Amino acid sequence: MNFEIKKIHARWIIDSRGNPTVECDMWAGDNVFVRAAVPSGASTGEAEAVELRDNDPSKFGGKGVLKAVENINSKISKIVIGMDCSNQKAIDQAMINADGTPNKGNFGANAILAVSMCAMKAAAKIQNKPLYQYVYELAHEGRTAERYLMPIPSSNVLNGGKHAGGDLAPQEFMIQAIGAPNFREAIRMTAEVYHTMKKVIKEQYGATSVNVGDEGGFAPALTTTREALDIIMESIKKAGYNPGSDIVLAMDPAASEFFDKEKQVYYIDGKTLKPSELVDYWVKIIDEYPIKSMEDPFDEEGWTEFAALKAKIGDRCQIIGDDLTVTNVQRLQKAIDMNAISSLLLKINQIGTITEAIDAAKLTFKNGYTVMVSHRSGETCDNTIADIVVGLCTGQIKSGAPCRADRLSKYNQLIRIEEELGEKAFYPKEYAEFKEFQ
Ligand code: PEP
Ligand code: MG
Repeated sequence: MNFEIKKIHARWIIDSRGNPTVECDMWAGDNVFVRAAVPSGASTGEAEAVELRDNDPSKFGGKGVLKAVENINSKISKIVIGMDCSNQKAIDQAMINADGTPNKGNFGANAILAVSMCAMKAAAKIQNKPLYQYVYELAHEGRTAERYLMPIPSSNVLNGGKHAGGDLAPQEFMIQAIGAPNFREAIRMTAEVYHTMKKVIKEQYGATSVNVGDEGGFAPALTTTREALDIIMESIKKAGYNPGSDIVLAMDPAASEFFDKEKQVYYIDGKTLKPSELVDYWVKIIDEYPIKSMEDPFDEEGWTEFAALKAKIGDRCQIIGDDLTVTNVQRLQKAIDMNAISSLLLKINQIGTITEAIDAAKLTFKNGYTVMVSHRSGETCDNTIADIVVGLCTGQIKSGAPCRADRLSKYNQLIRIEEELGEKAFYPKEYAEFKEFQ
């Protein structure tokens, strides 16, 4: 089979927030064509790989990506043209070496990732394999899967924090339809709760409060965490489901965004809390509501508070590192050593290559922890992460609300994958079932 990369070409396109982002085209083998576009975060971790922006205030307020595009079209193309696109490790390592920085600050992780994604997609297409199958084999040294784990969608139905711009400090309030028999029914249940929420919010906060935030969730003018959780609980019940058994809750406070580093305090719910007080606050919230997943409950350097919460909560709720771990195996290892998390949020653009993202997932699984694959708040309709989550069998994905094409492109691809897999698709009821697939 011919896997030779023949040509690559990058351009900028517009993402879901109207900002430019990098899209790359690749031709490989006997005229096989693939395309990939990279996402972009708003509540980004300090330790994330560098997203290269032009900083030219005359274009897109400084957010242009002409440099990253040019890096692909001139420098990276010279490195990868002629390489074998099925040798993902070699391609990713060649780009990392040529970039020469620890954080991909030279070429930009947005440039490197677009090419890394294209190589993976081209190799799958040349072999005429579904991308999820190719990803599975890439992560399992060529082994083929007998069954695939479909992900529980963690759907961000109510947006706060930086994604909504109001007073509500926590960023994401999600629902997980764990009682569904399969993925498509989970999406149906999620969409029904979402529609019910629209009515509940309209009744309580007026017709103008059903605008949506960056990830498609409603963004009413709330101030407290409990107000948000109560709206969701009421909506789940009114939609005819049982909170706790049919549908559980998940949160991503993205707490770095409401942490005052100088004063070492958090501003939440109109209160000022010391780190130890926030630990106790989250314990109470997890006791009061059926919350099974809590991401970034503390600042990105709040290692000891992560560990304190995990020690108090045990298995009742998974504690996910996002800004804390940034899909980086060094930070992940530190979190493991400190017993600070029980789960990793996997964002491919936080680290910048497919190989490193797979390595991060594997290290997490090796330690008996879970992985949730994630979109970014700035997205395109590229749906590669849908195939990645099935290929890696992580069992969890977050891709926003069941609203807006950039969010739905992932969920809809998962509906197609589930249909194609038929009997080979398994939809889990609880996190404990993930392990046998990994
Ligand atoms: C997140 O924090 O998990 C998230 C998806 O938001 P962003 O992409 O803005 O980091
Ligand atoms: Mg997060």
